[in-house]
Amino acid sequence: MMVERIDRKLEVRDETIPQAIKRILTGRVLTARELSQEIGKSEKVIYGHLEKLVKYKNVIMIPPECSSCGFVFSSRDRAAKPGKCPRCRKTRIEPPRFTRVPDDHRSAEIFR
Ligand SMILES: [Zn+2]
Repeated sequence: MMVERIDRKLEVRDETIPQAIKRILTGRVLTARELSQEIGKSEKVIYGHLEKLVKYKNVIMIPPECSSCGFVFSSRDRAAKPGKCPRCRKTRIEPPRFTRVPDDHRSAEIFR
């Protein structure tokens, strides 16, 4: 009697959202919107994970910047795009971008 075993595992991506974020950000610089499109979760969900990753792991945030006057939101640690510029009050803001850095290179200086 021939029994054909069909238990070949389908290739399932069994990773958590933080794992997916870290994988996708390796060697790339992306906004939360781009991450949300790649992962298939809402931006709101991605923001929450990004903020934790920035705090504890090797993910850095390149701060948002006002497109009108060049103000850099350097002290901001929230992953969402700011609503308006505190200096010129305009709302054309470049969203923060994220990337993964290797251990011991936790510095945004290399992107300047
Ligand atoms: Zn401004």
